[in-house]
Amino acid sequence: MDAAFIAGAARAGTSGQSGEVINPANGEVVQTYEYAGPAEVDGAVGAARNAFKEWSSAAPVERSEVLRKLADRMQARTEEYVAAETQQTGKPLRLSREFDVPGSIDNAAFFAGAARNLEGKAAAEWDGAHTSIIRREPIGVVGSIAPWNYPLQMAMWKMLPAAAAGNTIVLKPAEITPITTLMLAEDCIAAGMPAGVVNVVAGAGPVAGEALMSHPDVNMVSFTGSTAVGKRVMELATADVKRVHLELGGKAPFVVFDDADLEAAVQGAAAGALINTGQDCTAATRAYVQRPLYEAFVEQVSDLFAQIVIGDPLDESTDIGPLISRRQQERVAGFVERARQDGAKVRAGGQIPGGALASGAYYPATVITDAAQSSEIVQSEVFGPVLVVLPFDSDDEGLALANDTPYGLAASAWSKDVFRTLRAQREIQAGCVWINDHIPIVSEMPHGGYKQSGFGKDMSTYSFEEYTQVKHVSMDITAEAKKGWHRTIFSEK
Ligand code: NAD
Repeated sequence: MDAAFIAGAARAGTSGQSGEVINPANGEVVQTYEYAGPAEVDGAVGAARNAFKEWSSAAPVERSEVLRKLADRMQARTEEYVAAETQQTGKPLRLSREFDVPGSIDNAAFFAGAARNLEGKAAAEWDGAHTSIIRREPIGVVGSIAPWNYPLQMAMWKMLPAAAAGNTIVLKPAEITPITTLMLAEDCIAAGMPAGVVNVVAGAGPVAGEALMSHPDVNMVSFTGSTAVGKRVMELATADVKRVHLELGGKAPFVVFDDADLEAAVQGAAAGALINTGQDCTAATRAYVQRPLYEAFVEQVSDLFAQIVIGDPLDESTDIGPLISRRQQERVAGFVERARQDGAKVRAGGQIPGGALASGAYYPATVITDAAQSSEIVQSEVFGPVLVVLPFDSDDEGLALANDTPYGLAASAWSKDVFRTLRAQREIQAGCVWINDHIPIVSEMPHGGYKQSGFGKDMSTYSFEEYTQVKHVSMDITAEAKKGWHRTIFSEK
């Protein structure tokens, strides 16, 4: 497999380092390839630079048309995308088919429309002597890095608003999940996008990733991944003051007040915690349940987690597939083991399964109680199918606990009392707060973090704030040689 797609053509990597794409459901090698390195990054940035003038000056309707055709093209190839996404990530076919791929197509359709709605504010004569115009202009070449949990969708979230606004892009997928991003680059060309507008370099984070983030011809970096790497990206961007957009980790609280619909909250906790085998930055990870409902919630959610079907992602009856890799399986098991040693109780799951599942990176749906708020399992991102449940007494305490981590990406609150939900949505520090649900997203609404979950928005027209810069044009309307304000500088001459 070629690691790169540059100026409309596939190119082999020349980094000298090879890697594998492994199907985590069975350990089989799907692809072996030489990673892209600094030479490919340089070529891709050059191609994006060359394509910028034509793409940025195209009429919005032309960019819109390409994105609309991209959506159609992806729609026609849905099953190929579904199969490739499931093979490289191990996510259940049901999730790829009903969430990842249709969500990505809908994102493309949304930005096809949004591309025609980019505008500055209306003109006016604020001082009576000048007409002001606000222009929204693209930034230039955008270097984007995506993670492995939703490879196609994250690539789309980065690429679409940037391209719709007239930027050109170099995308680096996670080196373990490059396949659907490379398919996307081909489909951009098939949809009529000029060569060089979207380029892909699949390579190692510290090599291709750092080369891209620090490339002097890249004007903006947008990154989705862990908070630790996000900090590094920010450092790299300082050298030439690149614009930075960071979508980082999360540790979403799930606050259940004592008047909540218990059945809905239990169902919601399972769906919210287990989507994508818990490898979701917005996944419900900390359920805080008000004391009167606590015991019943723990019992019912533990029963439900024990019934979750774990297995082959290709089987339609599978609820959760494997984690992304053996490494991630060890990482998740390590978190649960350390929590146990710290005195927490495991109410469901908590053991790497054997038997037929031993050949994949499986980890079961796990419920943990009796953990301290300050403990690692409550504070750090596990990125696996693990829900911690903790009790609280007063509403004040529940909301304070919800806010007590460095993250602020997403949260939910569960109650039938409108005033409680109004207070919760106001006080929870997160970029998204769901009320009586957890997870649903739409292309029209922004996604992005507070606190150490990053800054900047994906999806929605808010993402144009990131991928455009505002220019004020001020035009004299007096036609006078000696303008009134000149007397401030020099007296009448
Ligand atoms: P990661 O930070 O390890 O890797 C993300 C990407 O960064 C990969 O492409 C990787 O190759 C690259 N990378 C690694 N080191 C790098 C370096 N030194 N310089 C440049 N690039 C480098 O994250 P991951 O394990 O792939 O993904 C999981 C993380 O992503 C979780 O923390 C999750 O919360 C986060 N995430 C956030 C969002 C969001 O919207 N906020 C969405 C999805 C995932």
